[in-house]
Amino acid sequence: MSGTLKNQVAIITGAGSGIGAAAARRLAAEGAHLVLNGRTQGKLQALAEELNRDYPGIKASVAPGDVSDPQQAKALVDQTMLVHGQVDVLVNNAGVAGKIALMQEVPVEEVHRTIDINLKGAIFMMQEVLRQSMVPRQRGAILNINSIAGKTAFPYWSLYVASKHGLRAVTEAVAEEQRSNNIKVVGLYPGAVDTPLWETIELAHDPNREGMVDPETIADMIVYILCQPAKVVIPDVTITPLKPAL
Ligand code: NAP
Repeated sequence: MSGTLKNQVAIITGAGSGIGAAAARRLAAEGAHLVLNGRTQGKLQALAEELNRDYPGIKASVAPGDVSDPQQAKALVDQTMLVHGQVDVLVNNAGVAGKIALMQEVPVEEVHRTIDINLKGAIFMMQEVLRQSMVPRQRGAILNINSIAGKTAFPYWSLYVASKHGLRAVTEAVAEEQRSNNIKVVGLYPGAVDTPLWETIELAHDPNREGMVDPETIADMIVYILCQPAKVVIPDVTITPLKPAL
């Protein structure tokens, strides 16, 4: 990556809401072409129409699919290669909160769903962009949206914590593998961010949404990381609310 995102091609997973949608708006403003992924086509379509209208110099397209399915992850990168011929940036952002419960009370399907989406989905996407574009072209940046739950083990969140600790391990290992290929692999570790994710979590008390980090602040950080000079990498960034949000 050079210091600019103009005319770079970026795939954003989980782009229909929250951090992904904020990142899409920010990258479009920087002049990046975007392929927007998520499972709900309507949200992606509305965002793509907004971006193509507001930023006529870029092309934003939608590629609905479930990243936890390796065939669908491959199809997403296949489609990007067909339309743009390259992938410069992957923002691996799709994720679910998982069920808040004691380990012994987490249903088996929740175990699979949390690990499949948060960890395996990110892995399948990394594999495809590395194979199809980044390694052959010897350039690219992968930004894995992790969580402070990838650095701290919170009780009752054991599956989410497991998925994000796993993602941290993968991020750090692949970052070392790909240095010699001029590919940057970065982990971003937010604390609580005010996104629709919180509406999927059953908590005993309402969280302090106003005190949370705004998704636009995360999007600004994503651009800052991606716009560093080619010879520089920021391997990880932790960004949290100043005061506890829970
Ligand atoms: P969000 O608004 O719920 O966004 C998550 C997005 O992922 C949704 O648009 C969802 O859309 C998509 N998604 C879920 N499963 C998918 C799958 N299998 N394939 C493709 N897309 C999928 O929540 P968010 O807070 O912005 O979350 C984004 C990332 O930030 C997650 O990885 C999360 O763990 C991380 N994070 C969030 C916080 C926070 O406090 N909000 C803090 C730290 C880290 P569909 O349902 O339409 O597919």
